[in-house]
Amino acid sequence: MPFPVIASRRAMIGSLSAGIGSLAATGAAAQAGRLPATPTGRPAPQLERPPQQAEDQRLGWAVAGLGHFAQAYMLPALGRALMSRPAGLISGSAEKLGEVGARYGIGEAHHYGYDMAGLRDDDAVRVVYVITPNSTHAELTVRALEAGKHVMCEKPMAASAADCQRMIDAAKAAGRKLMIAYRAHFEPYNMEARRMAAAGELGKIWFASSDHHRPLDPSKPRDEWRMRKDIAGGGSLVDIGIYSLNGLIWLLGENPVAVSATTHSPPGDERFTEIENTMTAQLEFASGARASISSGYTADKKRIDLWGDKAVAVLDPATAYKDNKLTVSEAREQRQVIAEATSAEQFTSVVDHLSAAIRNNTGVAAPGEMGLRDMRIIEAIYRSADTRRRVELNPDMTIKA
Ligand code: NDP
Repeated sequence: MPFPVIASRRAMIGSLSAGIGSLAATGAAAQAGRLPATPTGRPAPQLERPPQQAEDQRLGWAVAGLGHFAQAYMLPALGRALMSRPAGLISGSAEKLGEVGARYGIGEAHHYGYDMAGLRDDDAVRVVYVITPNSTHAELTVRALEAGKHVMCEKPMAASAADCQRMIDAAKAAGRKLMIAYRAHFEPYNMEARRMAAAGELGKIWFASSDHHRPLDPSKPRDEWRMRKDIAGGGSLVDIGIYSLNGLIWLLGENPVAVSATTHSPPGDERFTEIENTMTAQLEFASGARASISSGYTADKKRIDLWGDKAVAVLDPATAYKDNKLTVSEAREQRQVIAEATSAEQFTSVVDHLSAAIRNNTGVAAPGEMGLRDMRIIEAIYRSADTRRRVELNPDMTIKA
């Protein structure tokens, strides 16, 4: 085994402390005044969790699309967020509006259809969170902006770069904020990996890889539309490969200058008649760094590796909903970093980030322009796979003629 894992308790505590120390300086939980994790790595009791703002101080959010991700993750997160609260519902289902409204105490006066008629006059709602199938993001975002609301939009931002541009233009015209819900930017282990990379603790990063895969299950309603290109906009790349792409660029702090990609859809598998199962792409960077990304709809794995000349950082899992892990390997030692905040806090942090930006009139960490950049690179990846050629990118990530 090239890198012996630290086995002794003393060494383990030392490693854990290092992780706690480094995260304490930057972590969201530190800002929120929480206790550090215990040396054994158990979550600390949240004795000093700051109270939520008074109800009328928490910005009201309306959720558009009451599907799996909205109901299982984002509505609960809005319910426990410090600066945001669920205040409206937008849905095509009267039944869901009734059920979910009752669960969150959101009355009929704040229920809307997708035409959003009347939303403009609803002062309780300041932000609309679009959590619908990908090809609907653009139209719903534009409607919400035209109703005077700020918008958080799920990834991928839209089904095409042209739609992304339309959304950005609408936000500018309305004078409202538009953010893409890249939750991993608020996940403590991803934040720590980025801090380490930016601080030079990994040395010069010459190679990076990221792989995001999950099984596509046609028996689940949420995977039915993912098999349709007109609704999903693409296959595993746009759905989860986007985590590989956006995550690596964010961690490396550099945009690619060229991509070479392949996609594959196994013949005879009905899930993949319109969309790709697997995608692999090589990214080239002006600094000389190279990266390899993949996505797929069969295995179950979400991982990012940063290969520096001083140390290698591995996030595995990298973008799970909970319990992500960061391991740092140097020549003779491997240590696991323990964050004081939990991975689950990414959900509240991402919504509170936008609420804080609205309240303080500051910029957002993942603006529409970032979603557009990613969509342009995705289009270049598909172009490369279709033409079987290396595709060069302009500085704005459009394809070089
Ligand atoms: P679901 O199918 O579970 O939910 C989508 C909801 O959108 C539906 O329940 C429905 O809500 C509404 N909807 C509007 N138009 C349509 C349509 N034409 N077909 C189907 N549903 C429609 O999907 P997910 O919750 O898994 O995904 C929704 C979005 O969230 C996607 O963009 C996805 O990429 C993103 N996502 C992000 C994740 C992350 O980690 N950031 C994780 C999972 C998903 P209603 O019945 O209320 O109208």
